[in-house]
Amino acid sequence: MYVIDLTHYLDPRGAIAPDRGPARKFADFLTAVVAHATDFDRPDETAGPLCFKCRKRDRRAVDTGITEDDRVIWHCVACGTEGQISNWQGSFWDLTSGQPSD
Ligand SMILES: [Zn+2]
Repeated sequence: MYVIDLTHYLDPRGAIAPDRGPARKFADFLTAVVAHATDFDRPDETAGPLCFKCRKRDRRAVDTGITEDDRVIWHCVACGTEGQISNWQGSFWDLTSGQPSD
């Protein structure tokens, strides 16, 4: 179980902080999970972000959701990797409302 504080992956302006490498890939995955989980207008069948643990060519999408205490969670049914993300509210990938919150 990964326990993530999204702000650790963002720079002071709110953009993804790591430039490249595995940290960047992981940060891209986390922000995609937040966008997928918080977009309540998307069709249910929209696939989640591709699992960063599974082999790329398998194209395994993760399930996403939001817990009652407002953590974004993801789970990969293929490899069992799961995690939770906090402090995503108000980030660029928070799609819960059209307005940035503070
Ligand atoms: Zn996986």
